[in-house]
Amino acid sequence: MKKLLALLLALTMCMALAACGGSNESAPAAEEPAQTEQAAEGGDAAQTGETGDLPVIEPGKLIMATNAQFPPYEMVADGEGVAGTGLEGIDVEIAAALAEKVGLELQIDDMEFDSALVAVQHGQADMVLAGLTYTEERDELMDFSDPYAQGVQVVIVKEDSPIQTADDLANAGLIGTQRGTTGYIYCTGDYGEDHVSPYDNGATAVQALLNGQVDCVVIDKMPAQTFVAENPGLKILETSYVVEDYVLAVNEGNTQLQTALNDALNELKADGTLQTIVDKYITAE
Ligand code: GLN
Repeated sequence: MKKLLALLLALTMCMALAACGGSNESAPAAEEPAQTEQAAEGGDAAQTGETGDLPVIEPGKLIMATNAQFPPYEMVADGEGVAGTGLEGIDVEIAAALAEKVGLELQIDDMEFDSALVAVQHGQADMVLAGLTYTEERDELMDFSDPYAQGVQVVIVKEDSPIQTADDLANAGLIGTQRGTTGYIYCTGDYGEDHVSPYDNGATAVQALLNGQVDCVVIDKMPAQTFVAENPGLKILETSYVVEDYVLAVNEGNTQLQTALNDALNELKADGTLQTIVDKYITAE
């Protein structure tokens, strides 16, 4: 079907060329998206700034997978949220600005963090924006943008906890983390799976800490600050655990979409939009 379409298109283009000397028309919007195939062909087109025929799952849409329990990057909004998504936060605003730049309508699918990573790899989402940390292992499975923010893994404890620095994690009974996150990966790597308990999201991990089911929670600093502010009796240790970069991810090999989104992201950095978005959600300490 795709071959037939391409043939038809080529024929039409030949006729158009003969008639008017050739404008470089892009493919019709109705063409079936085929991520990997188009990506393999498409690197150069994106570099020229053409975004009309980006390899996305549903024509006209940019589908983002995220976990909206990660303030201030993504959370459920009180009202209709950013661009009518029902969500708000730094990543949500960045996504809306990116979608506008590449001429697509933003759709956000809210799910657990580990499911978001699977969704983009299985062609169920075009991109992940979820306070997602760059790691070499993930780089084998997905393609990334340049970093757009810094993340820091911190440790949340009860105020009277014997755990006083990140070094004390070695003696912590049970560490709570979010499933599939770098917090989980680092803690299991450093202290072994028996000492780490994975939860669906940050809120449930923090609830487990409050209930005494875990002795601390290792999670990204920004959501940690929100959780601690909302739950009296908790604090964040002053020594942080790991510093990391946040990136946007597309499916491995979708170079055309990766390039288009990365270019758009760099424009948002250069013209100050990114900083304005960050300042809206994070007030300087
Ligand atoms: N930054 C962490 C990671 O990428 C956690 C992200 C999240 O929970 N949304 O694994």
